[in-house]
Amino acid sequence: MSSPDPLDFLDLDHLLSDEERQIRDLVRAWVGDNILPGIEGWFEAGEFPKEIALQLGELGLLGMHLAGYGCLGANAVSYGLACLELEAGDSGFRSFVSVQGSLCMFPIWRFGSEEQKERWLPKMATGEVIGCFGLTEPDFGSDPTHMRTAAKRDGDEWVLSGTKMWITNGSIADLAVIWAQTDDGIRGFLVPTDSPGFAASDIHRKLSLRASVTSELVLDEVRLPEDAILPEVTGMKGPLSCLSEARFGIVWGAMGAARSCFMCALEYAKTRVQWGRPIAGFQLTQEKFADMATELNKGTLLALHLGRMKDEGRLRPEHVSMGKLNNVREALQIARTSRTILGASGITLEYPVIRHANNLESVLTYEGTSEIHTLILGQALTGERAFD
Ligand SMILES: Cc1cc2nc3c(=O)[nH]c(=O)nc-3n(C[C@H](O)[C@H](O)[C@H](O)COP(=O)(O)OP(=O)(O)OC[C@H]3O[C@@H](n4cnc5c(N)ncnc54)[C@H](O)[C@@H]3O)c2cc1C
Repeated sequence: MSSPDPLDFLDLDHLLSDEERQIRDLVRAWVGDNILPGIEGWFEAGEFPKEIALQLGELGLLGMHLAGYGCLGANAVSYGLACLELEAGDSGFRSFVSVQGSLCMFPIWRFGSEEQKERWLPKMATGEVIGCFGLTEPDFGSDPTHMRTAAKRDGDEWVLSGTKMWITNGSIADLAVIWAQTDDGIRGFLVPTDSPGFAASDIHRKLSLRASVTSELVLDEVRLPEDAILPEVTGMKGPLSCLSEARFGIVWGAMGAARSCFMCALEYAKTRVQWGRPIAGFQLTQEKFADMATELNKGTLLALHLGRMKDEGRLRPEHVSMGKLNNVREALQIARTSRTILGASGITLEYPVIRHANNLESVLTYEGTSEIHTLILGQALTGERAFD
């Protein structure tokens, strides 16, 4: 038997089907050809190359875990593997795919009318229509239940007013899924971004997720037809079920960023010579690699287990919280440890490590902070709610 592959120490590859491996290899190759050559420049310039949306659509990665309406209908594990490979390139690209597929297409697919599905999903699957998801507000982040954005009835129209903050894809989106208070509780609305009264402006000076668009949305009495509302869901169940879908992708994606850091540090340590020998030969460096490889393999195994549960219809939001809490925390630790192995070189964009580490700071916060996932687990374990 050959010795274990440092990049797949537990031979998790063996647990995948041929089709899952094919999708994984396709996305890995695409990231190698299309993301890695440009990412340092995009990150430095603070740009998201919007044209890549069409390529992601062509690959079938937009809404890939949904069935029908031009979507691929892949299983959850394949979707997870795609997220992992995309985030090994950069968290910004996995974020784009998560927002498009899980936060925008999923609610239309799950809670939309047949007309809404036919109108929006096929073009979102190709990347011709870009979506954004407006839940967070300037004063309501972890606690969106008390959001101020409101939708009022005026005859047979809806009138939406409010502000949404930190919205991925906001200024490049054609369609915004906006969550708002109504007399019946929180409801979702499909808002074309060229509607009069809708404005998006980008948040600048970010030091994290720089190759991703993050915006503020202002809705100033935006008038929408009666059928702009998502008919099949009322209350926080709507946005929370979308978040659960996207968080599932993050459980996998975080391991992609971690793998990229680990690979980079391993290569570096084998060639960087101090005291007359490669730093990979020092015991303290080897302890770092042993710990990182253990967490990387455990985290990937956890993602795969959750993926199999999802495909069997047994995955609960609390399970996803455990995955997000663990895998983002461990990925960030792996990124920081890898950074130490690179020494001073680790602080530059010449290597992917500091970029991943900075990106993972956002990933730790969005889609539920680590504190919120801890509270979700606390409630699931004890039966006591400790949020408020
Ligand atoms: C790059 C980026 C992209 C994003 N994209 C989107 C998007 O597309 N759509 C969208 O709607 N939102 C998006 N967000 C917003 C994100 O979901 C919120 O930032 C997140 O929910 C946290 O909200 P907040 O930043 O207002 O922090 P706050 O809620 O103010 O929290 C601040 C701190 O207090 C802690 N805290 C809060 N409540 C408790 C409690 N009960 N107990 C203990 N600690 C608590 C938090 O964990 C955190 O550490 C994005 C954010 C970022 C950074």
